[in-house]
This record gives sequence, C-alpha cells and structure tokens, in this order.
Amino acid sequence: MIIKKICVYCASSPKVNKIYFDATEELANELVKENIEVVYGGGAHGLMGKLADTIIENGGKIKGIMPKFMDEVEWSHKGVTDFEFTETMHERKAKFLIGIDALVTLPGGSGTLEELFEAITLKRLGKFTKPIIILNTNGFYNPLKEMLNMLANEHFMRKKHLEMYTFVDNPNQVIDAIKNAVIWDESAINFAAII
Ligand code: AMP
Repeated sequence: MIIKKICVYCASSPKVNKIYFDATEELANELVKENIEVVYGGGAHGLMGKLADTIIENGGKIKGIMPKFMDEVEWSHKGVTDFEFTETMHERKAKFLIGIDALVTLPGGSGTLEELFEAITLKRLGKFTKPIIILNTNGFYNPLKEMLNMLANEHFMRKKHLEMYTFVDNPNQVIDAIKNAVIWDESAINFAAII
C-alpha cells in the first residue's frame, strides 16, 4: 500500500503539555521522511502550528483547509502556501476526507473530537473507508477508548465496529498502523445497523 496523502486532526491550543508538541513534531518528521502529503485545518498555533512548522522546515508538503471566517480573523498559518477556503465548517469537514489514504487524530479539543467522530460515523455507514489512526500520546485517549468499548459492550454498536480505528501509543507506529488497518469498504452499510 502506497500512502500519498493523509489528513491530520489535532489541537489548536498552544497551552497543552510539551509532550503533545514533541509527539506532533515526531509524527511530522516521520511523514516528511515517507514523502506523505498532509492535509490539516490550516491553523498557526497549538499542535496544528507545530505540525505545519515542522513539515515546512523539512521541505514536506502540507495543505490547509479552513472556513473563510477563520482566515478573516487571522487564524491561518502564513507559511502554508497551499490553502483551500470554504464557506462553512461542514464543507471543510467534508473536504478533509476527500482523496486521502488515511486519517490520523492527535490529541485535541472539541473540534478534533467532532471531526474524528464524523469520520468514524461515516466509516460505520461505509461512506468513508480509509484507515483511522488515533495517536494516544501520554494515554490522552484512554477515556475515549473506554467509551468506545462501552458502546460495543452495551450494544450501541457492534464489536466489528471497534475495527474501524486503531489506537497507537507512539508516532513511529502510525505508518505501520495505516498499512495494517482492517480493510473496509462500502458494504459496511450492510452491518451498520444493530438488528
Ligand atoms: P480543537 O481540537 O478544539 O482545538 O479544534 C481544532 C479545530 O478547531 C480546527 O480544525 C478548527 O476547526 C478549529 N479551531 C479552533 N481554534 C482555532 C485556531 N486558533 N486556529 C485554527 N483553527 C482553530
């Protein structure tokens, strides 16, 4: 499997612990080394800023997708030259998932979680079929993992749905996790419902 382009969701907050910045930098370096283009939210600060800074510094490829209203309040990263501006947040989220080979979610806030859950929901319905990797730096996503397991244990989704995503602890496990993800296709609609 050749990985050409991935989408990365991550925090906009600049106040998070250094451990999350370090993991973001490590992942960015890994992606540049593998010549993988990155699509992200276009932000200049927080983990988004670290991701873009590291990729640009190392000569990698990165594209930002952002609603116009965020650009108008100067949230866009000035060093990112490839940008697509959308009218709405919904349009932006839809564009993130077009033409990518995988989605990687780093620690983040409500925006990151919303984006991740839209992708998981679309995957359950067979409308998005690419690997979803969740980088569990510092155990950040342990409560989320527990919540998702609860959904399966309590029959709010199927055990099979736990195969829609992969948790990894370290950035250097992301590429392998993409390559080893369970194959998924449009037929997922046939077992999306619990009957
Ligand atoms: P969060 O995980 O809540 O930090 O949200 C990340 C997402 O929130 C991004 O994809 C953006 O939609 C949005 N966002 C919030 N604050 C900013 C910011 N300062 N710059 C760019 N995007 C932001």
